Amino acid sequence: MNYISTRGAAPILNFDDVLLAGLARDGGLYVPETWPILTPATIGGLHAKSFAEIAVEVIHPFTGGSIPREHLERMAADTYTGFGHAAVAPLVTLMPKLHVLELFHGPTLAFKDVAMQLLARLMDYVLERRGARATIVGATSGDTGGAAIEAFRSSKRVDIVILFPRGRVSDVQRRMMTTPTEANVHAVAIDGTFDDCQALVKAMFNDLAFRDRVALSGVNSINWARIMAQITYYFSAAARLGAPDAKVSFAVPTGNFGDIFAGYAAKHMGLGVDKLIIASNENDILPRTVATGVYEMRDVMQTSSPSMDIQVSSNFERYLFEASGRDAGLIAGFMRDLAANKRFALGGVGENLKRDFAGAAASEADVAAAVRLVEAEHGYLLDPHTACGYVAAGRHRGPGDMVVLATAHPAKFPDAMEAIVGARPPLPSRLSALMTDAEWFDELPNDLRAVQHFVQCKSRVGREASTSEDLCGGQE
Ligand SMILES: *Cc1c(COP(=O)(O)O)cnc(C)c1O
Repeated sequence: MNYISTRGAAPILNFDDVLLAGLARDGGLYVPETWPILTPATIGGLHAKSFAEIAVEVIHPFTGGSIPREHLERMAADTYTGFGHAAVAPLVTLMPKLHVLELFHGPTLAFKDVAMQLLARLMDYVLERRGARATIVGATSGDTGGAAIEAFRSSKRVDIVILFPRGRVSDVQRRMMTTPTEANVHAVAIDGTFDDCQALVKAMFNDLAFRDRVALSGVNSINWARIMAQITYYFSAAARLGAPDAKVSFAVPTGNFGDIFAGYAAKHMGLGVDKLIIASNENDILPRTVATGVYEMRDVMQTSSPSMDIQVSSNFERYLFEASGRDAGLIAGFMRDLAANKRFALGGVGENLKRDFAGAAASEADVAAAVRLVEAEHGYLLDPHTACGYVAAGRHRGPGDMVVLATAHPAKFPDAMEAIVGARPPLPSRLSALMTDAEWFDELPNDLRAVQHFVQCKSRVGREASTSEDLCGGQE
């Protein structure tokens, strides 16, 4: 199993290297050269398996023999016993044919834990085998950072720096990043938006000398292994609803397009998926693209679902690559247009997009109405992100089963929930110290040089490579 870049000009990598690489050296994203297929018999047998066992079925073919199956089994079992629910990702039925897939039972109460917890174990495994270290730099709109720090705080081989937009993440989200005290963890408040943070990370990846100097690795959803680990719950949910005989639709609260791309990948692997619905908040670039065939950036709006307050959906590039018949030249052209004009027209690829996805955007009023309605009718509290999914599901329901991905626990967004339902959902008891523990973080301007200097000085790999020109001061 090899991995190729969506822009066609980066080296082909094996699984271990793609795990550590993040962004490809040509600025593209890695995708598997071929899609492994799970047979109907295998899919039919999944309903009898645990979540960790389903993860192994899904993931093992992507590793191309690099990780012996029994080692992967051990890592998956270890990862998912740490979750707060025995089923890991339980399916809650609100009414016949309408289900919520709870993906928020990990340590940071958002779906990102499902992949990140496994990714950290996979990376440590591969680094250990090589006797190497890595430096992870990531940008977060709120949830990735906490999930990444929580996953890597016990890593012996990784230093991690997470950039978050100052004042634009919830208190709970910020505290999940700033309260861990391990020396390998660095949370940094950037004076800018999430897109600024993401641009800084991309620029560091594109500075190849810097990238090599600190052994830079990525854990944003540009990292293939995260998408891979998210495919698991599409299979686990569909298996519970009768796959391979039943076709299931999924409504996916979407920001960077990573989660829903995992659903698209599940379809390539043989899962019977009916509709894949891109659910947005008022930052509706993707539903607009489905409707118009033009991807056009606008200003980012702050909403009650901050993890979806995004105008650049990085993983959409992976879809465009597939939908264009893997035309790397076309994709590189799209991305040049986007950089120059903040827009590009999909041309013929837009027809495929309409066939493969539905889209729907929820206004802030839609979100509030959905949260109140579901609480009143079903006694179930949706968080604002999941509520966008619920709204989108309502606009595209057919006769079959519909699964709304619950991407966060409502307690993660207490201010937004209080504004909608008049009460702050309590945090699960395992997080009781979160709101009172001391916080540790650095603040930096939206400036590439300043951030690179910081990363180099905090990274054990970077410090070893330092010359007298990159002074880190006496604080180390
Ligand atoms: C990250 C996140 C999303 C968006 O997921 P993408 O993979 O970026 O599309 C949605 N909801 C929550 C709660 C998130 O943390």
